[in-house]
Amino acid sequence: MPDNETSELNRLMRGLPGVEKLLQVQSLRDLSKTAPHELLVETARQTLDETRQRIRQGSAGAADLGLEGLAGQVARKVEQTLETNLREVINATGVILHTNLGRAPLSREALAAVTEAAGSYSNLEYDLESGERGSRLSHIESLLARLSGAEAAIAVNNNAAAVLMVLTAFAQGKEVVLSRGQAVEIGGGFRIPDVMRQTGAKLVEVGTTNKTYAQDYEGAVTPETAMLMRVHSSNFKIIGFTASPKLEELSVITRRHNILLVDDLGSGTLLDTARYGLTHEPTVQESIQAGADLVTFSGDKLLGGPQAGLIAGGKEYIAELKKHPLARALRLDKMALAALQATLQHYLRGEADRKIPVWQMMARPPEDLREQAGRWQTRLAATWPGATIIEGESTIGGGSLPGETLPTWLLALPVPLGGSANQLQAVLRAQRPPVVGRVERDCLLFDPRTVLDFQGENLLTALERTPPVKPE
Ligand SMILES: *Cc1c(COP(=O)(O)O)cnc(C)c1O
Repeated sequence: MPDNETSELNRLMRGLPGVEKLLQVQSLRDLSKTAPHELLVETARQTLDETRQRIRQGSAGAADLGLEGLAGQVARKVEQTLETNLREVINATGVILHTNLGRAPLSREALAAVTEAAGSYSNLEYDLESGERGSRLSHIESLLARLSGAEAAIAVNNNAAAVLMVLTAFAQGKEVVLSRGQAVEIGGGFRIPDVMRQTGAKLVEVGTTNKTYAQDYEGAVTPETAMLMRVHSSNFKIIGFTASPKLEELSVITRRHNILLVDDLGSGTLLDTARYGLTHEPTVQESIQAGADLVTFSGDKLLGGPQAGLIAGGKEYIAELKKHPLARALRLDKMALAALQATLQHYLRGEADRKIPVWQMMARPPEDLREQAGRWQTRLAATWPGATIIEGESTIGGGSLPGETLPTWLLALPVPLGGSANQLQAVLRAQRPPVVGRVERDCLLFDPRTVLDFQGENLLTALERTPPVKPE
C-alpha cells in the first residue's frame, strides 16, 4: 500500500471517537436512562469496530458519519435489541394461510383462552373433580374424537411431528407403501422420504408419478409391511391423466393384510370447502369414515387454530401413541392447547364459519370486498388520487388447495413516478404495524379479504403516511 494511502487511512482511523466519548453524546446519554449500560458499551464498541472495518475496506463515507451519526447508529441498534421483534403485520396479500405471516390468526375466544391459561395457573394436568393428576390431552381428546368421528385422538406440536410420531411408533424397521406421486416435499424442507429415513421406516414407492392403482399397493405388501400411507398433495396439483385409488379401496387391502392405513391430510378440514366455491378438500371425517386407522392434520391450516398436529383414529393406536416416549418430546404447550380447545369448540357449536377468522375470510362475498375496497379508495382520494379498484383473486395458501382462488376486489396503488413497487413495499414494511401487499404489473395491490377488521384503520394510516409524491 503506498505511503500516502496508509497515512490517509491512519488519519481516518484517528478521527474516530473512543467508546467513552461516543457515549457522552446527548442522544446516548438520554438512552442510558432506560437502556442497560453494558448493552450501550457493547453496541458502541461493535459499531466502532464495524466502522473501522469499513474504512479499511475503502468504503467512502464510513468516516464521514461524525460523532452524532455514529451515536445515532448505536442508538438504533440498542433500540432494536430492546424491542419485541415478533410483531403484528397487516396481511393485505389476499393469501389466507400465509405461512411466512404466521398462518391462521386465532378467533377472539381462542385468544381469550390463551390469555387465561397462560396468565395464571390452570388445571392443565389437574383433575378438578378428584383433585388428582390429570392429562393435558383430556381438554381436547373427546372434542376432537367427536368432531372427526374417530374413536380417539391426540394432539402434538405440529403436523410434521404427528407424521414423525406415527411413523416412529408403527413403522420403525418396517416398510411403508406410498405412491410415487406422494413422496413429496411440503414447505420448509419437510420431505416425506427424509422423514421416513429419520424414523427408521423403509419407504416402498409404488406406481408412477401420475398414476397409481390399488393393485400397485397390494402387490407391494410383504410380511415386512407396517402400513399403507397416503399423503395429501397439499402444495401442488397434477393435472391431466392421473389416477389414485380411493381410501376405501386401500382400506380393503389393509384389512386383508392386517396392516395400518395412515392418511396424512396436511391441512385437513372439518368443514366442506366446496361451500365457498372451492374444490372439495378431503375432510377428516371422510378419511375416518373411509377406513383410515390414523389421520394426521395441522391445527393452523384450514382448521384455523394454533400450531398443532392432530392425530385422530383407532383407540388402540392412539393409546400406543400416548405411551410413546416421543409423546412427551412433541407435546403441545398450554397456550396452544387452550387455543385448540376454543377453536374446536367453535366447530362443535356450529359457529366455525362465523367465529374462526380463516373461515370468515373464505366466506366473505365479493360484493362485500368490493365495497370495502371502495371505502378505502374514497378515504385515500386525497393522498392516492390514482388508486383504483380492480377485480382479482385471493388464494388459500399454507399448503392448502393449491391453484384454487376466490374472486375478490383489490385496491390498486399506482407506483409513484420515478419509484418502483418494490420500493413502495419496503416503505410500507417499515410502518408500524408493517403492511404487506402484493406487487403485480407495477401496481401495489391490497386485498381486503385478509385484512382483519381491527387493522383497517392502521392500513389506511400507513398508506396516508406514504404518499406517492413526497411533499417538499
Ligand atoms: C403442511 C403439511 C404437513 C406439515 O404440517 P405442519 O403443521 O406445518 O407441521 C405435513 N403433511 C402435509 C401433507 C402437509 O400439507
